[in-house]
Amino acid sequence: DLDSVASSLRSPGPTRVDSKWSDTKTYSSKKKQQSWFQLPDGNWDLGTILTTSGDEVVITLLEGKVSKVKSEDLIPANPDILDGVDDLMQLSYLNEPSVLYNLQYRYDRDLIYTKAGPVLVAVNPFKKVPLYGNDFIEGYRAKTMSGPHVYAIADTAMREMIRDEVNQSIIISGESGAGKTETAKIAMQYLAALGGGSGIEYEILKTNPILEAFGNAKTLRNDNSSRFGKLIEIHFSETGKISGANIQTFLLEKSRVVQCAEGERSYHIFYQLCRGAPKTLKEKLHIRSWNEYKYLSQSTCHAISGVDDAEQFRVVLEALDVVHVSKSDQESVFAMLSAVLWLGNISFTVIDNDNHVEPVEDEGLINVAMLIGCGITELKMALSTRKMKVRNDIIVQKLTLSQATDARDALAKSIYSCLFDWLVEQINKSLAVGKRRTGRSISILDIYGFESFERNSFEQFCINYANERLQQHFNRHLFKLEQEEYIQDGIDWAKVDFEDNQDCLNLFEKKPLGLLSLLDEESTFPNGTDLTFANKLKQHLNSNSCFRGERENAFSVCHYAGEVTYDTTGFLEKNRDLLHSDSIQLLSSCNCHLPQTFASYLLTQSEKPVVGPLHKSGGVDSQKLSVATKFKGQLFQLMHRLENTTPHFIRCVKPNDRQSPGLYEQKLILQQLRCCGVLEVVRISRSGFPTRMSHQKFARRYGFLLLDHVASQDPLSVSVAILHQFKILPEMYQVGYTKLFFRTGQIGVLEDTRNHT
Ligand code: ATP
Ligand code: MG
Repeated sequence: DLDSVASSLRSPGPTRVDSKWSDTKTYSSKKKQQSWFQLPDGNWDLGTILTTSGDEVVITLLEGKVSKVKSEDLIPANPDILDGVDDLMQLSYLNEPSVLYNLQYRYDRDLIYTKAGPVLVAVNPFKKVPLYGNDFIEGYRAKTMSGPHVYAIADTAMREMIRDEVNQSIIISGESGAGKTETAKIAMQYLAALGGGSGIEYEILKTNPILEAFGNAKTLRNDNSSRFGKLIEIHFSETGKISGANIQTFLLEKSRVVQCAEGERSYHIFYQLCRGAPKTLKEKLHIRSWNEYKYLSQSTCHAISGVDDAEQFRVVLEALDVVHVSKSDQESVFAMLSAVLWLGNISFTVIDNDNHVEPVEDEGLINVAMLIGCGITELKMALSTRKMKVRNDIIVQKLTLSQATDARDALAKSIYSCLFDWLVEQINKSLAVGKRRTGRSISILDIYGFESFERNSFEQFCINYANERLQQHFNRHLFKLEQEEYIQDGIDWAKVDFEDNQDCLNLFEKKPLGLLSLLDEESTFPNGTDLTFANKLKQHLNSNSCFRGERENAFSVCHYAGEVTYDTTGFLEKNRDLLHSDSIQLLSSCNCHLPQTFASYLLTQSEKPVVGPLHKSGGVDSQKLSVATKFKGQLFQLMHRLENTTPHFIRCVKPNDRQSPGLYEQKLILQQLRCCGVLEVVRISRSGFPTRMSHQKFARRYGFLLLDHVASQDPLSVSVAILHQFKILPEMYQVGYTKLFFRTGQIGVLEDTRNHT
């Protein structure tokens, strides 16, 4: 196959590296040399040099056109034998057009995976590719198949976990629609196949349709976009069998429940329920067609081509059975979904001259009360009034139309997000790791990638902050630790600069003058508004090099992946995420168990109730953790967990914005490769010694292969003897104080010999 052909042709070649990604400086335009030439549209074309004179070069481009260009505008191309190498490290000339070309060469042949040193790059095929299933799983397990693949990554993680007894992680990142969730599922498939046997693997795989139904939605970018982040930790026994799993989710986008842009949908489960619920259930829970619900009919988009919602509903029902959610609990879940939809249909009438309102006692109101199990009067009160404590008296304040609508939507959002959390909790109970945790787990992280839109709001702010943290983890792991280790071990190795994003993280995290602190501070001020927040940022952060104040409500942050301008409109409200205590009390007074459970979730999220003075947003509301602070806490916990694992990185790339196969847009891909530092990784890995092993370990592992007796038995002498016996070239390794350092691929020969002895 192509991969093995390419690797047999692999030549270490001259490694030309300079700091600017193009190797132009060390490259002299010789005759016959192939070069990349950038066309006015930004794409690169391959040309052959005909003649050179001084600074000028005459080249023929592919279509036979002859052009005279400046030699400095040319970037060297790699020889044909390196076409489609499976690891970008093998390229003799490392530059952007060569990397783009190499990925495209492979992509055109359905080889969607390519290594970039230690990182796996996956280019979304947007079609079925013949790379998966039992034969491939078996092939990678038995090592009869090689070549970059998610299976290979999962296999390495599995082997290292067992060999080193160290927890592993597979960190998947990329833009929306790049293929993270699919990739995570492919990795899970492999782990389930290798670690299966107890039946729990089947349950683990069935969590996917459930979480996707409740947490994914059609967006303009992706028909099946995850609107939450997910970490699944799979635990293994000593013999490498799956013993349990645990799922943690991050920041579900709950605004989607009550508002949804044209062309997008709300969460899949709503349409599945409306289309797939059996008649008896529909009658019992008053479920109607999607277009009868205001929340769903805000967008005209209600179906996804190629997806049968009714069929998907059956898949979800079956999956809920598998993870042991009882039939009666399932019915309660659907009752909550129905209640959320009916909440959106509740309307209000004005009852006095001050614009105060009262809910209309119609079908919507009656159904909600029935479904959550409360009285109609209580529901009306909770939606149209607010209890306030003034000194020792409780007064009841009527709400205006917009306040009442907000209260209604807040209740719908809370019920939905509590339902999501509850489901995850049930799944975790079902998958619970029986015995104590060992050093044998593989965590798969599928988390929203960096986002930069025309208009960026609180959601992008949180998502990009998370990505900034993950990027630091990535940098630390691949660059910083790498360099520190060389230095510690006395290895002579020229320092390579890498982008450090600590400044940007400080901008977010510094106390008291960082983005998050200032946001929280402004969120607790009764008179704080999105504008006063923006002004405060400009006042305190202007000297920070990663920050720029913009006009009015806006500010910009220089992220590692580029500058993003945020619009603070809605920041404070989204960060406060207030659900009035009246609503929590309503839920706790319901005679159904789910609303009661949700009330307890909401109460534990809150700290002590604060009795504020009578002001706009004060009252008997609880002081709860802000959304940003809670997210930061989750993120720190996540990073802590990841830091104790051996990471494996997969960078998903989407080749076009149309979700269509065969379309490879260079500019779009380049921007994604730049964002995640793929070329930088290759550069560093190639110029360094990525494989390392302590003298002891090396001597222990390969010592028995020695043919001659070694006079001294100390690990270093044994190691050196092994290196000599196997004729490992001196430029391929370095001997440090405590460890041996190898260039990529060098340990392979030793491992093969060892495994066949
Ligand atoms: P989001 O951040 O919006 O959740 P994502 O990165 O998780 O996006 P996916 O949902 O995994 O993206 O992928 C989007 C679509 O791309 C899939 O629904 C599928 O059609 C296609 N796709 C992704 N990976 C593959 C693959 N390996 N083979 C075939 N199709 C794929
Ligand atoms: Mg996804």
